[in-house]
Amino acid sequence: MSRAGPVQSTAEEVIRHVNLGLIVIDHDLKVVLWNDWMVRHSGVSQEQALQQNFIALFSQQLAPGFLRALNNAISYGLPAVLSSALHRSPLPLYPLQASEQMLSPDGEVARMVQSVIMTPIACETGNESAGGHCCLIQISDASSSVRREKMLLSHSETLKRQVVTDGLTGVYNRRFFDEGFALALQQARRNQSSLSLFMIDIDFFKQYNDHYGHVEGDRVLKLVAETLQQQLMQASDIFARYGGEEFIMLVPELAAAEAREFAEKLRTSVLVRAEPHEKSGAGPHLTISVGVCTGLPEHDADGRSLLARADAALYRAKQLGRNQVVAAG
Ligand code: GH3
Ligand code: MG
Ligand code: MG
Repeated sequence: MSRAGPVQSTAEEVIRHVNLGLIVIDHDLKVVLWNDWMVRHSGVSQEQALQQNFIALFSQQLAPGFLRALNNAISYGLPAVLSSALHRSPLPLYPLQASEQMLSPDGEVARMVQSVIMTPIACETGNESAGGHCCLIQISDASSSVRREKMLLSHSETLKRQVVTDGLTGVYNRRFFDEGFALALQQARRNQSSLSLFMIDIDFFKQYNDHYGHVEGDRVLKLVAETLQQQLMQASDIFARYGGEEFIMLVPELAAAEAREFAEKLRTSVLVRAEPHEKSGAGPHLTISVGVCTGLPEHDADGRSLLARADAALYRAKQLGRNQVVAAG
């Protein structure tokens, strides 16, 4: 007995300082314990809370899931865990630090994200005849773990994007193209539909770099990528940087004549940017050559013959003087 005093005062100190909301509610829904954490985050003082009806303490309605769990704990002795994922903010509690406060869409300070544990406990309230249990409610601030989760999610999305995009131009990279091409081949085979491939290469780009410098070279690479990207017509088209100053485009379901016409449109789109290229052997401006081929991928299991034909057509366009389109025969 002589040690009950110090132990009790230690317990009180713990309850005061613990970084957790602690509430005890008796079977009449009267508040028996309301710790300092609750005072700080709810704005309701101990004087206002103790011996008062718990539900009447708040001007806002409490979440139905919270009230159901509380009733189950008090009437039937059932414990409950309300995760922050399912019950975001059951009580009107708010973070203290401005840096932790987030505004809701209507401009108000958003409630703290909470994890709640309800535990039925035996407690002496001096009113045993009423029966039922008391309920210990522990509330922890889940805001920082929610923030961390969000950050990790956006980080992993950034990484996923980085894996499939080219760092310089921001368009898809070869790895993405290869995967998309494999899927497009399967689909075209199933639908008995055609695929068109466009191999695109900047003309005299070595001379461009040598004359204007690598930084300028990078700038026009980005410009060409952006210009070509703008020509895409539908979601199923894939455009990627294939390597160096070479790009590739895949467009399903074009007739051969339409594909040729589209290749011509790609070539013109770069030409009309009228980017000066003093050292080009194909005219005063930066130009591209395009090799195009259209085919049914029936007998072309991995698309290699489509790629080879487009590549041969590009080679021919270079041989014929560049700044032109050649369609594979
Ligand atoms: P062609 O008309 O036959 O295509 O000639 P070309 O000079 O364009 O082709 P070549 O293959 O001889 O040279 C390609 C040049 O592209 C060489 C390389 O330095 C440059 N290049 C490749 N990648 C980059 C890059 O990321 N940035 C810059 N600035 N230059 C690059
Ligand atoms: Mg080139
Ligand atoms: Mg090249």
